[in-house]
Amino acid sequence: MPTAPDLPAHWRAMTLAEPGRPLQAVWRDGLPEPGAGQVLIRVCACGVCRTDLHIVDGELAAEPHPVVPGHEIVGRVVKLGAGVTGPLAVGDRVGVPWLGWTCGVCEHCRAGRENLCDQARFTGWQIAGGYADYAVADARYVFALPAGYSDAEAAPLLCAGLIGWRALAMAGDAKRLGIYGFGAAAHLVAQVARHQGREVYAFTRPGDTVAQDFARSLGAVWAGGSDELPPPADPAAASLPPGWVSSLGGHVELDAALLFAPVGALVPAALKAVRKGGTVVCAGIHMSDIPSFPYGWLWGERSIVSVANLTRRDGDDFLRFAGDHRLEVSATPYPLERANEALDDLRAGRISGAGVLIP
Ligand SMILES: [Zn+2]
Ligand SMILES: [Zn+2]
Repeated sequence: MPTAPDLPAHWRAMTLAEPGRPLQAVWRDGLPEPGAGQVLIRVCACGVCRTDLHIVDGELAAEPHPVVPGHEIVGRVVKLGAGVTGPLAVGDRVGVPWLGWTCGVCEHCRAGRENLCDQARFTGWQIAGGYADYAVADARYVFALPAGYSDAEAAPLLCAGLIGWRALAMAGDAKRLGIYGFGAAAHLVAQVARHQGREVYAFTRPGDTVAQDFARSLGAVWAGGSDELPPPADPAAASLPPGWVSSLGGHVELDAALLFAPVGALVPAALKAVRKGGTVVCAGIHMSDIPSFPYGWLWGERSIVSVANLTRRDGDDFLRFAGDHRLEVSATPYPLERANEALDDLRAGRISGAGVLIP
């Protein structure tokens, strides 16, 4: 088996023994052996995602514990399992995303919707993730990463960027785009949207002027609280079609809204802000209950959709885009052993952009 030289005898994994408990650093002897079709990766950086919080807090369905979270892994391949051949080689820099394995034969997989696979297994949940010095991944589910991003910068591309990309695709050709929750995913998708010539309206926690300034610095035409409507429209604005009439009392109507905050009450709030025929895209894996609302807010062929996971195609497409268009990545580094602090900061909204663990 091809192997990198000088591998250590001991390594750490930040481990969740049971939901609701802090992660604990567990030292392990001997590196994991990549099985057939797998690769062993030395972790160089791993993003901290809100989904990790849902796992740590027990909001996602119970899985056998202990769990090693982390599904935005950037690392170097140090060992190839049996049957793994080019293009992967020892020494390559690769990225490991949330989708870690699919069956390949179910109805969804065969239809190109492997993100919906009934048997899918996910990195940092059913598969030990990247809050560790080393991780094993299925060679078919690792990505080559674009040059021009440091390891810490590349990590948030692998979920925040990728899920944002898939959510944005679900918004179709929406020109006026609302983004609710301006964290790791939003700060990347806002830049993609700007590159595509869209107008970004950023909705943050009410009063979070830091996040609002951050959104404007990344090209949002407007930023405000999620308890606000979009701003009053300028009737002379070039982006408004002839004959445009706002049903929002003169306020800009959004063509689509992306929800990254896990707050169900934002669904009706966003629905009120989108025009007839517009779409509200719920991009999180978990959300608090959605309160009831008048049918009139949905009426007019508005739709509410969710985004589940990613496909490898999404990954290839997004990482190619990120290679062609340099995105500014706001990555706040934390040493691996301070994973609990990073999670607490994410929970409290103290991170601008993305937190990234560095072993
Ligand atoms: Zn399947
Ligand atoms: Zn994620």
